[in-house]
Amino acid sequence: MELKICHLYPDLLNLYGDRGNVVTLARRCAARGIDVSVTGAPLGERVNFADFDLFFIGGGQDAEQAVLLDEIQGWRGAEIKAAIEDGKVMLAVGGGYQLLGHSYKAPDGKETDFIGALDFTSVGVKERMTGDYMFEWDEPREAVDIVGFENHNARTYLGSGVRPFGKVLAGYGNNGEDGTEGARYLGVFGTYSHGPVLPKNPVLADFLIRLALERRYGGGVELAPIDDALEERAHGFMAGRLRG
Ligand code: GLN
Repeated sequence: MELKICHLYPDLLNLYGDRGNVVTLARRCAARGIDVSVTGAPLGERVNFADFDLFFIGGGQDAEQAVLLDEIQGWRGAEIKAAIEDGKVMLAVGGGYQLLGHSYKAPDGKETDFIGALDFTSVGVKERMTGDYMFEWDEPREAVDIVGFENHNARTYLGSGVRPFGKVLAGYGNNGEDGTEGARYLGVFGTYSHGPVLPKNPVLADFLIRLALERRYGGGVELAPIDDALEERAHGFMAGRLRG
């Protein structure tokens, strides 16, 4: 089997080790003999989205998001939207997650259009939402806790066209108000979880890999177990700390 990963804006959108998500996906594939490749899609460089199974887009400061704006509002945004509607699997973190929504309203009231692939909007406020946090995700066979690190000044509010990725157990999540974290829509997983999120949440990493392989090869893909002792320890340590 083979899995082709596309890393969108690898240089510009890479907060708090987000690149580690791609390393984790590639290593977990390689450990199982899955032929994996990672292709970057930097600013201004066209790649053929039809070639890829799994997309990753990381976080960025407002300034970095501004650099991408023309492209995101233009041809690249249209390609990302089409890939999402086509059911491609995508993990989007922080600023990259925000870019998938309709718009961003800055604290001074200025509104900027984003891709509009997912039904949510983000509103900037003065206080940042920062710290280790945890949310419950109920899609695997049994609900699991996802641990991560968040640092954002935008509050994200979901519309009816998406569902939350999870329920906040500790920290802020989308907005610190409604208990939702991230957004799920077709093959897209949007989250504020940096850190990076996948190394210490191997259940999520494997879920994404399996989903992408099943889309390519049809259902029923089984991933061979790998030794996650270290990953589970990292996860358990953070979860324990957040539970107090
Ligand atoms: N620039 C955005 C914010 O501060 C996103 C930052 C991030 O990727 N966490 O809201």
